Amino acid sequence: MVIKCILCTNKYGPLSINITFHRFPKDYERFNKWVNFCRRPDLLEKGPSICNKTYKLCSEHFVETDFNNNDWLINTGLMQSCNKTAV
Ligand SMILES: [Zn+2]
Repeated sequence: MVIKCILCTNKYGPLSINITFHRFPKDYERFNKWVNFCRRPDLLEKGPSICNKTYKLCSEHFVETDFNNNDWLINTGLMQSCNKTAV
């Protein structure tokens, strides 16, 4: 399965070496925030567990402070790699 961003054309591969991909959080409150951020209300119908498995958001849509914001990234399991690329 190709990992790609739900909001842009970034795909996981040799060209995306500086880009990290983030799963949607399973936690409903955070999931809601991501959906609002993406302006994709249709995702609410699919629910957090399906979106967590299916959709990703790339780091292009995060500002640097978000990388250190636990509220935003907790449960993605990618916090460590994010901190690395944000420095
Ligand atoms: Zn993207």
